[in-house]
Parts: sequence; structure tokens; C-alpha cells
Amino acid sequence: MISLNQKEQEIAAKIKKLKDEAGTHSPSIFTVAEKIPELKIHVDACFLSNPYATELFFTYLKRDLVDSRKMRDVLEFYPSQNNVIAEILSECLNVNPKSIFIGNGAIEIIQAVIHNFTKNKIIVNIPTFSSYYEFVKDGIEILFNPLEKGENYRLNIEKYIQIVKKEKPDTIVIINPNNPDGGYVKYSDIKYLLANLTEVETVIIDESFIHFAYEDETYEMKSATELVKDYPNLIVIKSMSKDFGIAGVRAGYAVMDSKRVAYLLKNGFLWNSSGLAEYFFRLYVHDTFLKEYEKVRIKYIQETQLFFKELSTIPQIQLYPGLANFGLIELKDGSTSTDFVSKLLIGHGIYTRNCADKIGLEGQFVRIASRNKDENALIINSIKICFE
Ligand SMILES: *Cc1c(COP(=O)(O)O)cnc(C)c1O
Repeated sequence: MISLNQKEQEIAAKIKKLKDEAGTHSPSIFTVAEKIPELKIHVDACFLSNPYATELFFTYLKRDLVDSRKMRDVLEFYPSQNNVIAEILSECLNVNPKSIFIGNGAIEIIQAVIHNFTKNKIIVNIPTFSSYYEFVKDGIEILFNPLEKGENYRLNIEKYIQIVKKEKPDTIVIINPNNPDGGYVKYSDIKYLLANLTEVETVIIDESFIHFAYEDETYEMKSATELVKDYPNLIVIKSMSKDFGIAGVRAGYAVMDSKRVAYLLKNGFLWNSSGLAEYFFRLYVHDTFLKEYEKVRIKYIQETQLFFKELSTIPQIQLYPGLANFGLIELKDGSTSTDFVSKLLIGHGIYTRNCADKIGLEGQFVRIASRNKDENALIINSIKICFE
């Protein structure tokens, strides 16, 4: 069982204070490093991104903007408006541009959607990404639908349909794959759900981790984006932060019925992205970039699955392996998640996500992101040492 010595306990108390100040999201690695300078942080396994994709994006950005000196223009001038960027994305997403809404990160879209389209009652599966219930306005009922530990926190499709039919919410949310457990709903099941829940006014599917999921050896990803044509109640929300490793750029989009996009545009979302986000979106539809991205996406998925394999051999923990880029682990030796996370950070410089505040998880849980190959090896090794 992991325990902390006096010195470690003091630092752990400082970490806890930072976390409390950050609310339900974790303090960034920069905040932690700045506020607790005695920590030597080597690996950020709290934030969930593909590091190879960040490198690829940075190579393009350096060549196209920095070396060519176009960066000055990006900083000096207004970027394009929401509808212009929607036009750019429409061909690559194969949807009508009027159905595309651009956000300053997906978080802004979640807020816009929940504030504008949720009227009476929302069902949120737990554990979940907390914004889906935190942004709900006062007076609107939130029903938490607990995913079962006995079912490895996977969504039980038939049971879910029954609950929704009985509770009659106007909004439901499915994060696919889910954060923090990586649970994935297959494309055929998504179609089945949509066909059976047409009476629900707003069905949100958050695909912020969909680039890490696959259904067979081709590693092809299956997005629900094009289903918006058939199901006007569907809203697909997509963050670019995780799979492209660009959280600092703040780029996200959603696909939804064109009437809803028109409503949002009329109500305050005109110039809500940045020049850098526009630069990214133009790359996102660029053939050469996409081909190179596809390579780093698959490489990262393969390394992530190997990382899961290694994690699952450590006897003191149980891994809930999902199809996202992080592993949810449960500590089985009596250690608390707080002591484990503190030990990894203080003793090994590895920052992970303590899930003690995640509602819907019963037990000691920690979420660990997959990083590059060397960092993953360091994480595995350090966890083993922690338990010695
Ligand atoms: C991180 C995350 C977001 C927010 O992404 P941004 O584009 O960075 O705002 C949205 N949904 C889920 C499920 C996430 O994990």
C-alpha cells in the first residue's frame, strides 16, 4: 500500500489546494509547476492528447506561419467569421455548411447548446465530463444515469433506451468514447439509439475522442456526423484539442440542424474563433496534412493499446481498457487515489488525474493518459516502483 512521508504529505497538501481552486477540472501542468516549484514534472499524463499530432501541427505552423512571416497577419487581422470556416469544413465533413457551428473549443459549444436548447430535463451518464451537468441552468432537472461498475462502466444500450423513454428528458448526452472510462459505443449501436429515440428533442454525441477509437484492423474511425441529415435532433460536438493535441488553439465544431446553427449565430457567436484556429481548420481539410495525420493517429493508437497491455499486468491495479487515449485504473491494494497520484507526481514527476471528485465512480480511481513511447515506458516503470 502506498503511503507518503512527512515531506511528501506537505507537497501533497499544496497539490490538493491547487486542485480545489481549479474546481472539477485539473490545474494545468504549468500552474502546478509555477505554484509548486519544488516539483520536477517530466510527464503530463493528466491532459489527454496525441503528442505526435502536436508535433505534426507545429511543423506545419512553423513552416507556414513563423518561417514565412505570415504570423504577423494572423495576429493583426480578424479571422474569418463562423460561417466562412463552416464552408471550409463542409466538404471534408460531407455536411451542409449551414449545419456546421464553430466554437472556441468544444467547451464553448457545450455551453451554447446546453444554455440554448435544454429546456426541462437532461440525462447525463456518470462518470462523465463535468461540464455537461455544470452548465445546466438553474431550474432544469438533471438526471444522472449511473454506468454500472459491474458492466465496466459501459453503456447498456437497451437499458438506456428504456430509461430515456420512461424519464422523457428533452436532452440526452453520450460521450463517445466516454471520458474518463474510454467506453465506446459502436457505430451500429449509435444508429440504433438514434432510430429509437427520435422523440428526444436534443441528442448530444460528444466525439472529442473519436479519432482514438476503431472497430477493426483498418483503424477507421466512425463518426456520427453525417447522421445529422437523417436525425435533426442530433448534435455532434467535436473538440480538436485531444486528437490533434492543440488545446491551446481552442478549436472545436459541432454539426447540428441548420435552424439551430442559425439561431446560435444570431445570438452572439460571430467571431468566436481565432486566427490560429482558422489556420488549423484550413489544415484539417488539407490532403497532405490529413495523410500525415492519419499515420500519427494510427501509430499513437497502436502504442496506446500496448501501453494498456503493460498497465494491465501490474497486479495492484485494475485497468478498465477503453478506446480512448487514456486508461482508467482502479487501485486494488488499499492505496488511495490521492496518495498514488501524489507519489507519482512528487517521486517521479508524472502528473495524472485523480478521479476522487468524479461522481459515479465507486472506488479509488486514477486516469492516466497515453503519451509517447518513452514516456509511457517511464510511467509503467514508475507505477511499479510506487508499489514496491
Ligand atoms: C476536453 C473535452 C472537451 C473540451 O474540449 P475543448 O475543445 O478543449 O474545449 C469536450 N468534451 C469532452 C468529453 C472533453 O473531454
